[in-house]
Amino acid sequence: MLEVKTADKAGFCFGVRRAIDLAEKTVTKNHKVYTLGPIIHNPQEVKRLEKKGIKILNTLKKIKDGYVILRTHGIPFKLHQQLEKNKDIVVIDATCPFVKRTQDIVKQLSTDIENYNKKIIVVVGERIHPEVVALVSYGNGNCTVIENTNEAQNFKKSGKLNIVSQTTQTPKNFNDIVKILKKNYKVKIFNTICKAALDRQKAAEKLAETVDLMIIIGGKNSGNTTRLAQICSNKTKAYHIETVNDIKERWLLNVNSIGLTAGASTPDWIINEVEIKMRETNTNKNKQNKTNF
Ligand code: SF4
Repeated sequence: MLEVKTADKAGFCFGVRRAIDLAEKTVTKNHKVYTLGPIIHNPQEVKRLEKKGIKILNTLKKIKDGYVILRTHGIPFKLHQQLEKNKDIVVIDATCPFVKRTQDIVKQLSTDIENYNKKIIVVVGERIHPEVVALVSYGNGNCTVIENTNEAQNFKKSGKLNIVSQTTQTPKNFNDIVKILKKNYKVKIFNTICKAALDRQKAAEKLAETVDLMIIIGGKNSGNTTRLAQICSNKTKAYHIETVNDIKERWLLNVNSIGLTAGASTPDWIINEVEIKMRETNTNKNKQNKTNF
C-alpha cells in the first residue's frame, strides 16, 4: 500500500493569489491587458491566463495603451516610473506587499546612505532573479548582491552593512551569510524572508523526514519551489516536477510513502492532477498486490 501525504502548507500564497485575482478581474473587464514578464513563476498558470487574453511582453516598447499588470516580484524602479508617466496606460500593481515592503526598506536605506555616505546595502539572494534585480534598482547604486557563503567570504568593502533578504531565501543561507559578514563588519539586519515561503519550507522539510520520496511541484523558474526541492533533497529522494506528465513510473518502484509539496506559485489545479495520479498509482499497486497474493 502506497502512502501519499501532502505538506500542511503547499501551493499558492497570499501574494500570488492576490496577483492572479487582480489579473483575472482586469482581463474580464478590459481588452488590452499586458504583464511585463510572467506575472508569477509558473509557466502553466501563465499560459492559462494568456488564453484568457493577457499578453506577456518583456519590453515596454510594444505597449502604446491599455492595462499593464506588475508581477508579484516587482519591476525595476525606473521602469515603474516610466509606466506611471504614460497617460494612456493604467498600471495595476500586483507586486506582493511583502516584496514591496523590502523595496521600501532598500529605498529608504539608499536615501540614508546618500545623506550620510557611510553604509552599504547587501541583498542576500539570486543575482539574476527578477525580485532581486528590482530590489537592487531601488538601491540607486548602493546595493551589493551576495548569493552564498563563498561570496560572503570574499566580500571586501569598507563601511557598515545593512543586510536585507530576497523574500524566498532559506533562513539557513541568510543566517550563514550574516554570520560570515558579522566577523568583519558592523551589520544591521532586516530579515525580509516571507513567512509564507518559510512556512512552506518548514512543512516540506518535516514531511520529507517521514517519506521515501518527495515530489516537489512548481515552475522550474520558481525560486521558492527550487528551494523546497533543495531542502527536501537533504532529507530524502526528491524530484522537482512542473506537471503530472513529468512523473516517471520508475521513481515509484520500491517506494512505500510519497510526500507532495508545491511552491507558492503552483496553482491547486496542478497539485490536484498530481494527487489524482498518485491515488491511481496506489489503486494499481493494491490490485497488483492482490493478484500476486
Ligand atoms: S512567497 Fe511571500 S513574498 Fe513571495 S509572493 Fe508569496 S507572500 Fe509574497
